[in-house]
Order: sequence, then C-alpha cells, then structure tokens
Amino acid sequence: MSPLEAITALGHEEVVVRQDPASGYRAIIALHSTALGPATGGTRLWSYDSFDDALLDALRLSRGMTYKNAIAGLALGGGKAVILAPPEPFDRERIFLAHGRAVQSLGGRFITAEDVGTSPADFEIAARETTWVAGIDGRGGDPTPWTARGVMAGLVAATEHRWGSPALEGRVVALQGCGNVGAALAHQLADAGATLVVTDRESARAERLASDLGATVVAPEAIYDVEADIFSPCALGSILDDSTIGRLHVEVIAGAANNQLAEDRHAEALAARDIVYAPDFVINAGGVISGSVALLDETQDAMVQRVDAIYDTTSEVLQQAARDRITTLHAAERRAEMTLANARKDDR
Ligand code: NAD
Repeated sequence: MSPLEAITALGHEEVVVRQDPASGYRAIIALHSTALGPATGGTRLWSYDSFDDALLDALRLSRGMTYKNAIAGLALGGGKAVILAPPEPFDRERIFLAHGRAVQSLGGRFITAEDVGTSPADFEIAARETTWVAGIDGRGGDPTPWTARGVMAGLVAATEHRWGSPALEGRVVALQGCGNVGAALAHQLADAGATLVVTDRESARAERLASDLGATVVAPEAIYDVEADIFSPCALGSILDDSTIGRLHVEVIAGAANNQLAEDRHAEALAARDIVYAPDFVINAGGVISGSVALLDETQDAMVQRVDAIYDTTSEVLQQAARDRITTLHAAERRAEMTLANARKDDR
C-alpha cells in the first residue's frame, strides 16, 4: 500500500507536512482522530530511508495512538509527529523551535510530547513556541516510569492468562532494548523474581543493566532465538515479522515498543503458534496516561489508578480474544472502535 492509499485506508482526519528550510526542519504531523478529544501523541526524531517510510510510520503510529488513548479511557484522540532527522551536525534548538511553531499552528488539535529520539528537554524548547506540549516539568513530567509500570501490569496479566498465575518468580524474560523503558521494566521484573536475558544495539547499555541485575546478555539478533517464557520488545517497532516469529521460543509477548507487528496479519501468525500477544497499544499507555493528568485536569491518584487498570484491560482483551476465537489485536481494536463509535454517536 502506498502512503497516500494508507491515509485513506487508515482513516486519517488530517496529515500535515511542515518544513523550515533555514533550520533543516522537516516533519509530518498525522492527526488520525479527534473523535474523543485533541489528537495526542509523541514526536519521533528519526533518520528514515525515505520520505515515504517516514509518512507510513507517522500514519501507523498515529492510528495506534487513537486506539491507545481510547482503550485507556482517555478523552484524547490520536496523533503523532515524525521529524526527519536533518544531516549532522544540526542545531537542535532551532529544530524544536520550528516544531513548536508547527504544533502551535494546529491550534490545539494536536498535543505532543517526547518519543524515540526526543527528550523532555526538546519539549522545554518547543514550549517556547507552543502551549500544546505535555511530558515536561509541570505538565506531567517524564512519562517513562509510568510506561514501564503499565507494561509491567500488562505483562503480569498476560502471564496469568497463559499460566493461571501472575507469579514471575522463575520465569525467563527475553528483553529487547535496555533504554529508558526497557531498563525500568527490567528492574521491576528482576524484583519480581524473573530471570532476564537482555540485549541492546548499544552493547554497553545491555552490559550495564546485566551487571546491575545479574542478567545474561545476548547479541541483538540472537534475542529471537532465546529459550524463554516471555519476550518483551522494548526497542523499536516492526520486529515481529515472517522471519522472526518462526524463531521465537516463548509463550507470551508483552513489551513497550510501539507497532511491534510488522503487519497486522502477524497477529494471526502469533496466534497460530499459540503465543499470547499482549497488544502494544493496550499495555504501553502508561506514558500518555501520565501526560494526560495536566491535559485533562485529573488528580495524581486517578492517573495512577488508570495506569494500574492496564492489568484489567489486558486481561479482558485476552479473555475476549480467547472467547471469540479472534486475535488479541483484533479484540483490542474492536474494543477501541466501540469506544470511538460511541463518542461519534454522542456527537450527533
Ligand atoms: P529508548 O530510545 O530510551 O530505548 C530504546 C533502546 O532500544 C535503546 O537503548 C536502543 O539502543 C535499543 N535498540 C534499538 N534498536 C534495537 C535493536 N534492533 N536491538 C536491540 N536494541 C535496540 O526508548 P524508550 O523510551 O525506552 O522506548 C522504547 C520503546 O517503547 C519505543 O518503541 C517507544 O516508542 C515505546 N514507548 C515508549 C514510551 C515512553 O514513555 N518512553 C511510551 C510508549 C511506548
């Protein structure tokens, strides 16, 4: 499918391309849905092979945000921005000032925060040009610990669904990506008694985490062959594909990475191998939930409850899939679509 066909097929409301030749800023801002509230999602800065790749990424990620926010019960729609990394060296401050102006020009239809390749510091800069940022001091703070907490809740629910007990004691978890979320999750898993096998493209990161937690390190490509109970993808998306799924020796997949399935049909490939897949957008919502405190004027207690409710939501999605003999992805999407359909009905 070409990216232009994807805009129609995925049902986007609006897709904006912005550039500021003086600074080298080039970005795509994809607003998938505002049915539940302003389109909300992170801004990714990445070196894409082509503009089409960047556009497809923005389209898929923004739809994922619509589903994520709907399933988390937030009055927020789904959107995502990708900034095409300019050639090095570039002036980061000018890039994020330009991004702030682009976000501001959308008049509050899009609210953004950090994602892969960006940090809260970048949004402190963007906030000089726009009010529509979250995840910075006084506006939700660092989302990462909340993402890790939610992923842990979803992973425990998937564990209970598969083995009838939520206990992680003695379970082996193969964890891909020892970055912000992966490292925080690894600490929680180790505290719960799991044995960890970890990897990271930056080997020093994996080595450091392994020495802190007594984990084993494997090379990035070897993580798919590890004999483990659970695979936890916490690096980048599109890693569950025709070649990797056949190599897995796990019974549960539960991780933080967005868009783990290379294509939706890979949910069927996982089901055919009897692997319980906890859909990424169900279990990695903790970060956006934490950022929503300021946006939705919620209390901290309500926010924490919402993050911990990822355990119940995941259980319900997995049970629904088993009952209706559909994939867990399908069950999760159906749940989100129902919330969106009800919102549209209320609007009429
Ligand atoms: P991060 O950049 O801090 O960490 C990612 C890590 O993965 C890095 O250490 C990187 O070296 C490693 N990595 C990349 N490709 C790899 C590969 N092929 N093999 C092994 N390691 C690889 O990012 P993060 O904030 O920890 O986020 C991790 C994932 O979770 C991303 O997909 C992100 O979109 C998703 N996510 C993050 C949040 C959040 O709050 N940060 C919220 C929701 C979803």
